[in-house]
Amino acid sequence: MHWDVNELKEKYNILHSLYQRVNKPLIKKEIWNDMYTLNTMIVLYDKGFDKKIDPIYSPAEDKQCRDYLLDKYDEIIKALNEYYQIRMKNRRPENVVIEDYDSLIKDFLNNYQPEIMPVYNNLVENNHLELNTKKDFEPSYNGLCLYNSTFNEYYVFARYNGKILSSLYLPHELGHAYQANQVEIVRDFDEKRSSWFVEVYSTYLEQLFFHYLKEKGYNKQAYYLEKGFWTHFINDVEYQMMLILNTDLFLNSHCFTYIISKLVSTIAYNDFLKHNNHKMINEFNNIFLNGSDYDIVNEYKLSRILHAGYDSLDRLIK
Ligand SMILES: [Zn+2]
Repeated sequence: MHWDVNELKEKYNILHSLYQRVNKPLIKKEIWNDMYTLNTMIVLYDKGFDKKIDPIYSPAEDKQCRDYLLDKYDEIIKALNEYYQIRMKNRRPENVVIEDYDSLIKDFLNNYQPEIMPVYNNLVENNHLELNTKKDFEPSYNGLCLYNSTFNEYYVFARYNGKILSSLYLPHELGHAYQANQVEIVRDFDEKRSSWFVEVYSTYLEQLFFHYLKEKGYNKQAYYLEKGFWTHFINDVEYQMMLILNTDLFLNSHCFTYIISKLVSTIAYNDFLKHNNHKMINEFNNIFLNGSDYDIVNEYKLSRILHAGYDSLDRLIK
């Protein structure tokens, strides 16, 4: 499954002429952002296209949540340090070829999150999905959900090489696509992209997907992926510890978003394991889309969030 690069170029050209005609700074900025996104996508297929556009996207943060988290800075660092200084062995199992990834994803969605199915089908039908092994596309990413406000649409990129160990990136990105689909105008979703909890639902889908893989008999591979998931988390925690020279850096680093999103997702995932329903993540999505970051911290309570992953890690080490 691939993007239609000619269509992307056409859209880029439309935006380019719009950009030159529009005078209002805010609209100009928005078009600029969309041009940047399209440029990133086109360059995957056509290196010569690169227009060297600098991103001017600036996130809008929830100030109340920011003040609260900064106030709890010491407590957060201490708790993360205490709970997550763990070493995990992560031996690579056989990387099995997947015969029919499309069917696997559909089966997963059908059984675990059927409401995403129409979003997935639309991505495929409109050529808005790019499954690709290429490492040179935004190299640090294994997947991306790209938003285009002008055309009110979104695209998904997921690294995938036909084998099981790369099968988790698409479910993650489908979470972002689903959330973008929940708002009528993609532009309204834009400010949510800077939320500290923007990764929660996607992370939940990753955890559900591990669960699904175990059910399908890919036990070793699923445990390996799950351990990798937590190894990343611990690396983030340890990296944070070294990185944090001041409190501002702490909240601004992407690491913090990944750490806190994984922990909230784990609260919801543990609830799923216990009750075999998705009530808690549905409630989370509702707060995420309609409330603020502060509402989320208030609902789940910081100390509970910080301790959320400990049992999962304990289970994986044994
Ligand atoms: Zn993500």
